[in-house]
Amino acid sequence: MNKLIAANWKMNKTVAESVSTVKELKKLVKDAKNAEIAVCPPFTALYAVSKELKKSDVRLGAQNMHFEDAGALTGEVSPAMLKDIGCEFVILGHSERREFSGEDDEFISKKVIAALKHDLKPILCVGENLEQRNNGEAKDVVENQLEKCLNEINKSQMAMISIAYEPVWAISRGNSNTRPATKEDAEEMHRFIRGLIAKIFDSGTSKSTRILYGGSVKPENARELLSMPNINGALVGNASLDAKSFAEIVKAAEIN
Ligand code: PEP
Repeated sequence: MNKLIAANWKMNKTVAESVSTVKELKKLVKDAKNAEIAVCPPFTALYAVSKELKKSDVRLGAQNMHFEDAGALTGEVSPAMLKDIGCEFVILGHSERREFSGEDDEFISKKVIAALKHDLKPILCVGENLEQRNNGEAKDVVENQLEKCLNEINKSQMAMISIAYEPVWAISRGNSNTRPATKEDAEEMHRFIRGLIAKIFDSGTSKSTRILYGGSVKPENARELLSMPNINGALVGNASLDAKSFAEIVKAAEIN
C-alpha cells in the first residue's frame, strides 16, 4: 500500500502563510508518485488551501470536527462543512484534544461514525502517555482506545480509516529536541495494533489498514521509521510547518 504522509499544522499559520506553504510544497512534491500526501491546516485556512490544492495530488484534511451535522454548537465545525470545502481527511482523537479539550473515546467514536457518514476519511489517533508507558500499560491503553473508538465500525468502513499511533511522550509540541519512539518500539506497537485490528475485524482488513506513526518525525529520522514493515506513513506536526522539511519526509516515504 502507498504510504500516507499527513501534515498537522495545529494552531499555526495565517491564511497567507498557509497558502504560501502549500504553493511551495506542491512544487517540491510534484514528482512524488508512491506516497499520498495530505495537509491539515487550521480551520481558518482550509478554504483558501482547498482552492490552492485544486488540480494537485496533495489532499486536504481538517484537524478536528464535531459529530453533529448542524445545530446550536457555538464554535464547532461539522463534517458536512468540511466536505463542502473539499476535505478528504479529518484527524480525530488527537492527544491534544483528549488532554486539553477533554475528549474521551465515546465522544471520538461518535466523530468517527459521523466522518464516515459524510465520506471523510478519519485519521484516528491513539497512544499512551509517559506515565502509562513507564507503568508498562502502553498496549492496554492503545487497545482500550482502539476498541472504544472503533466500537460501531464495520469491516467495510474500516477501509476508510487510518490509525495514527502517536505516543504522547514523543510528540514534540514545538520542541525540536523531543525524541521519537525508536523504530523498534514503534514497530512493536504497530504490529500490536495490526493484531488488534485482525482481532476486531479480520486479517484481510488488518493487512490493508494504514497505521501511521506520529511523534517527532523529522527528515533525519523519517527514513528509518518508514522502513519498518508495519509503519505505513506518518502524521507530522512540527516538521510539517516548513514545506522543505515536510517534502523531505515525503521523499523518505517514497524510497521505502
Ligand atoms: C502530532 O502532534 O500529531 C505530531 C506528530 O507532532 P510532532 O511531529 O510535532 O511531534
